[in-house]
Amino acid sequence: MPYATERAWVQDSIQNTWVKHSNLKVIGWKTCGSAEPGIHIGVADVNPHTDGLGNKLNGIPNGMVLNFTFNDWAAADCKPRKEYCIRTIAVHEFGHALGFTHEQNRRDTPKSLCSGQEQGTVGDIFLTPWDLDSVMNYCNPKWSGDGKLSRLDIEGLQTWYGKPNDPFSRYQGQWVAKLTYSDPSCVADDIRLTVAGRTVTGKVKTPFGLEIPIRARIDEQSNLIGLNFQFNKKDRVTLQGTITDGVVKSTDCGCGTYRFRR
Ligand SMILES: [Zn+2]
Repeated sequence: MPYATERAWVQDSIQNTWVKHSNLKVIGWKTCGSAEPGIHIGVADVNPHTDGLGNKLNGIPNGMVLNFTFNDWAAADCKPRKEYCIRTIAVHEFGHALGFTHEQNRRDTPKSLCSGQEQGTVGDIFLTPWDLDSVMNYCNPKWSGDGKLSRLDIEGLQTWYGKPNDPFSRYQGQWVAKLTYSDPSCVADDIRLTVAGRTVTGKVKTPFGLEIPIRARIDEQSNLIGLNFQFNKKDRVTLQGTITDGVVKSTDCGCGTYRFRR
């Protein structure tokens, strides 16, 4: 496989940023078959990019494109300092692969510091205050923060992916959701969850005003499991799955989907 040196820079940069400061593991650095899951990195002399955020890249051929030559794109800036550019770009693009969008897309972006730079997907969850120093911010006076995570980059990373060796912290805190039914005659229900370590507690409020306490737990893979509750003899709801992407499907009376947010 060509570009052994360049690939080693990428792998080392990811290991020493996103992986080092969180509970993430990035595994399987190798030539990927077209049908394999995971991040498929293409190499081309173009503006580096990803074809979406987070699990939208799963199994997509060239879902992430990195530049290892700079003969054409950014030749003046990057050809004389290829290692710096390859490492810095890799950290930014892997930020997208972890689901982080551009900081300057936030609606609370201070116009005095950064304006007119919005690009790509607008995020739906704010993990920290707005951060000029983020590797995901085009307005950072250092280009992509020179590929070094800011204090708030690390804080946001750990909120979502846990601290090193702490797989359960990514859900910590309050979550709210509404159950949306596929059956239009049903009305949406509210749910509130508090996640503390592996323990999930909360309440479901039915359209009839009934409040039902719920309990669940988080397993070793950080999945939310065993969230059961019963409205009456007929209606039983079981939620099973991960709330990472804000969605848990229920497997009850054919009804619905919970969309969680903080
Ligand atoms: Zn980007």
